[in-house]
Amino acid sequence: MNIQNYINGEFVNPVNGGFIDNYNPANGEIYGQIPNSSLEDIELAYNSAKSAFKQWSNTALEERSRILIRISELLEANLERFALAESKDNGKPLSLAKQIDIPRAASNFRFFGNAITQFASESHESVGLNAVNFTVRQPLGVVGCISPWNLPLYLFTWKIAPAIAAGNCVVAKPSEVTPMTAYLLGEICTEAGLPNGVLNIVHGLGTTTGQAIVEHPHIKAISFTGGTATGAHIARVAAPMFKKLSLELGGKNPNIIFADCDYDKMLETTVRSSFANQGQICLCGSRIFVEETIYERFKADFVQKVKQLKVGHPSDNSTNIGALVSKPHLEKVEGYIKIAEDEGGKVLCGGLEVTVPNYENGYYLQPTVIEVEDNSCRINQEEVFGPVVTIMSFKTDKEALSLANDVKYGLSATLWTNNLNRTMQFSQQLQTGIVWVNTWMMRDLRTPFGGVKASGVGREGGFEALRFFTEAKNICIKY
Ligand code: NAD
Repeated sequence: MNIQNYINGEFVNPVNGGFIDNYNPANGEIYGQIPNSSLEDIELAYNSAKSAFKQWSNTALEERSRILIRISELLEANLERFALAESKDNGKPLSLAKQIDIPRAASNFRFFGNAITQFASESHESVGLNAVNFTVRQPLGVVGCISPWNLPLYLFTWKIAPAIAAGNCVVAKPSEVTPMTAYLLGEICTEAGLPNGVLNIVHGLGTTTGQAIVEHPHIKAISFTGGTATGAHIARVAAPMFKKLSLELGGKNPNIIFADCDYDKMLETTVRSSFANQGQICLCGSRIFVEETIYERFKADFVQKVKQLKVGHPSDNSTNIGALVSKPHLEKVEGYIKIAEDEGGKVLCGGLEVTVPNYENGYYLQPTVIEVEDNSCRINQEEVFGPVVTIMSFKTDKEALSLANDVKYGLSATLWTNNLNRTMQFSQQLQTGIVWVNTWMMRDLRTPFGGVKASGVGREGGFEALRFFTEAKNICIKY
């Protein structure tokens, strides 16, 4: 299926007429083409957004809210169609797309449709000076949203929904690897009555289409989720233009397991936090640290459970692990398994490609557990972003904390313990933006979301996102 850009409420081909292939990871075949957009398309998208801004930014909050909630309802009504498209484009199990990706995309619109009606600013009475100060939060204008391939519609809408709720108009680019649900979203926005030009969706490569968004002199802010190297590049390009930047980047998250935890719950969740979405979630706990006293027990139980995970075609209901997103990504992940072995890591299970009958050219890989002894090895320091985790034992709380923090990333951490004192010590001292205790990836959309260190700058979620997409202005009135 060939797709088009969505500009000013219409589906259009790229100005240069160029297209690129879109692959189905489940069978390795090309199943469509997407626009290879250039600067001219970004210019058209920008002009359309700019023309829509005056009216949209003055549209009553109730009306904006109503349209966002309508988009949410239409996504829910089209769950099957969107989930199928997401699964086909990305390789993720259809069941996952149905349970997580598309419902969450719908929640993003519903949440920010409601949140904008509750978003308030402050006033400060300057007592004794006969003056009152108040703050208004004005939309920025035209903003850019750029998202990755792992949770395509989920993360695309996590940016777009707060941006338009706050009164901005958007030029957005999904990943060229997974463009399909972003394309379908255009139809839904039109049907929901979103005025033309408020959201413009342009497809293409990061280094050309994405770069043109970042370089555009009048696009006021960039909300980006993706790799750390890309984030650093975007920061370099955008900083001299003083653009607002929100960067959600890579992770290498620790999963710290103490002997006093609820063992069964921990084991079940750790399988999920390691391999959900083929391990391609920035929040996956890819470095597992286990207290020495339960290490051998955990190792045996974990490996046994991982071996039971079924790698298969994404549409098959019994599939736990679908296909990796692309051939280059599969090769990258396999490269890391080799690096780990060369460094002395011991593959306890997995490590090999899987041939799924009838889909022999798909990008399937066994879930892989590697035992390591040194946290400074590359497999423990670099983001793999696939179905690969390492396990390692520790003796003391102090050692566990230092292992967890000894990495350049700082997105999330998971802690398994029933000791309150330990919970508080770790929660305070872990160098991450998110700490989950006795759970994983439990999300409340009101909470701040983001990382520290090389995992990014800024926070998404709740009012944080609405603050990012608005500029605070202080007004002081003397009376
Ligand atoms: P990526 O950085 O390669 O691409 C992300 C997006 O940026 C894509 O749309 C791409 O086309 C675009 N892009 C690439 N180069 C660009 C440039 N020069 N200018 C503008 N845009 C450009 O990342 P990916 O491989 O798509 O996604 C995987 C990465 O995303 C992993 O590192 C993962 O940890 C990270 N991620 C982070 C979070 C988070 O919330 N922190 C969530 C999901 C994924």
